[in-house]
Amino acid sequence: MSIAIAIDGPAGAGKSTISKAAAKRLGFIYIDTGALYRTVGLAASRAGVEPVEGKAVDSLLEKIKVELTFNEKGEQVVLLDGEDVSSLIRTPEASMMASKISAIPSVRAYLLDLQRDMAKTNNVIMDGRDIGTVVLPNAEIKIFLTAAPEARAKRRYDELVEKGMDVKYEDILSDVITRDYNDSHREIAPLKQADDAVLADTTEINLEQSIELIVNIIKERS
Ligand code: C5P
Repeated sequence: MSIAIAIDGPAGAGKSTISKAAAKRLGFIYIDTGALYRTVGLAASRAGVEPVEGKAVDSLLEKIKVELTFNEKGEQVVLLDGEDVSSLIRTPEASMMASKISAIPSVRAYLLDLQRDMAKTNNVIMDGRDIGTVVLPNAEIKIFLTAAPEARAKRRYDELVEKGMDVKYEDILSDVITRDYNDSHREIAPLKQADDAVLADTTEINLEQSIELIVNIIKERS
């Protein structure tokens, strides 16, 4: 039987970096579900579809194909109609588009089976917003990973500057706050800590300490 670890939390809490490192140490496959919402967001941008128009989004979903694969290094690759869009979906605009489009029920339904299928056949660490509450409610271990908005914005800012992007800290902080609000106030599958999830706050600790914390939580419970 495969084992599933669900890691949920707000934008910029370090979920993907920490989950990826923990998966490597434990020999699990890491699945970043945000990339799937980002890919649908990108498809909508390209098609000129506003993410709030439910009907237009529904017909877009009928036309596109989103696939989750892995490269030779074991890293996740997302394909939109066969094209590798893994890097294209990493801009602040794509983040905001993903946040908006993820509130549409048909988008969530469209991506649900894809996520569940991955967990059926593999030992996974899956990160997102609703993994422990909706996607994998029976996950063996659930962690809610969070940090103060300012700390999360600073990390995301540093990451984007490192990639050579011209961004302002204030804009990133305001994006983080807006996305937190959108993600936790939407009607369907809102961001929230599952009752049986362990809370991990990384505001005061660095990346290495955060990885250690998560790996220890997993080891203690498995
Ligand atoms: O995790 P990431 O920041 O890449 O996710 C982008 C957006 O996708 C989030 O702001 C959220 O709105 C949405 N998302 C979601 N459910 C998930 C993962 C991501 O609604 N499981």
